[in-house]
Amino acid sequence: MFQGIWIDKEDGQYRADVRGINKEQLPEGDVLVRVSHSTLNYKDALAITGASPVVRQFPMVPGIDFAGVVETSSHPDYKSGDSVVLNGWGVGEKHWGGLAEFARVSGDWLVPLQAPFTLRQAMAIGTAGYTAMLCVLALERHGVTPASGPVVVTGAAGGVGSVAVAVLAQLGYEVSAVTGRPEQADFLKRLGARHIVERAGLSAPGKPLAREQWAGAIDVAGGHVLANVCAAMRYRGVVAACGLASGMDFPATVAPFILRGVTLAGVDSVMAPRADRLQAWQRLARDLDPALLESLAQDATLADALTLAPQMLEGKVRGRVVVSVRG
Ligand code: NDP
Repeated sequence: MFQGIWIDKEDGQYRADVRGINKEQLPEGDVLVRVSHSTLNYKDALAITGASPVVRQFPMVPGIDFAGVVETSSHPDYKSGDSVVLNGWGVGEKHWGGLAEFARVSGDWLVPLQAPFTLRQAMAIGTAGYTAMLCVLALERHGVTPASGPVVVTGAAGGVGSVAVAVLAQLGYEVSAVTGRPEQADFLKRLGARHIVERAGLSAPGKPLAREQWAGAIDVAGGHVLANVCAAMRYRGVVAACGLASGMDFPATVAPFILRGVTLAGVDSVMAPRADRLQAWQRLARDLDPALLESLAQDATLADALTLAPQMLEGKVRGRVVVSVRG
């Protein structure tokens, strides 16, 4: 038996608790991993609370990412004792995930732990941080450099946002951090943000085009926030959109795209090709200051994750939550 978070729907009642799980119940897969750390991502909070239909089959062990050590493997790329990381691939949604002491998965979904990260550091980054780096890479792919002009990050005090601010500042960008929590201004400045922008100024319906401010943007919010960010991009600016913390809709006009040549680049971490994953993890090792990473991470147990999940959906959790699955 091992400990894990267990989500079930019995008699229409959605429940998540920590319980003992029999190893024989683990799903099929060619690699068995002894999980060391997982994390609480926004999607995990949706899964644990049932606020959105993230879980596709029941019962489910949530956790869209994990870091751990291979216990047994029949996959050619992995052997017992290898340190590995998993992000996405539907794990924690339709295949049992990382918020448990063991996970059995396809070896094709794993990547080796990137040096010099420890297993805990890899999960302090987690899917949120790896997605932040995919967003940075999307900006670079579309030609944005620190010389292009200032960049903006929305949801800056959250998981994706805080890593994005730290990485962009380290790369030399002038970063504006959008937050609904002005009390986090000092935290964001320590991560490297030059300017703090109040979220309220971007949350209401805005004009099709606004004053040109930013050359690049990383948006985790969607909704009016994304529409207003697009409207305030400089000529040929680039917006990497990865989230829906504000909403799934996109109440915008085409004006920024057809009059200013703005590019809207979508970023998905779940099905991203292996080469992109490896590149993102290598760049995180190069461009994320380990001291800043430590400052934006908090530690939690499996039981804590249950308590923190609703708080995360209310936008009350700062930075990243690292879950030590062994307590
Ligand atoms: P967090 O909960 O850690 O952070 C989200 C942040 O968004 C909050 O901290 C808050 O920041 C801000 N926020 C909250 N509510 C609103 C609102 N109504 N309007 C605008 N901003 C708001 O989540 P993550 O950083 O882990 O994830 C952020 C988003 O990115 C989620 O929607 C998630 O699903 C998505 N995501 C997508 C991925 C992909 O593959 N495309 C991968 C990972 C995440 P503040 O208080 O500073 O304003």
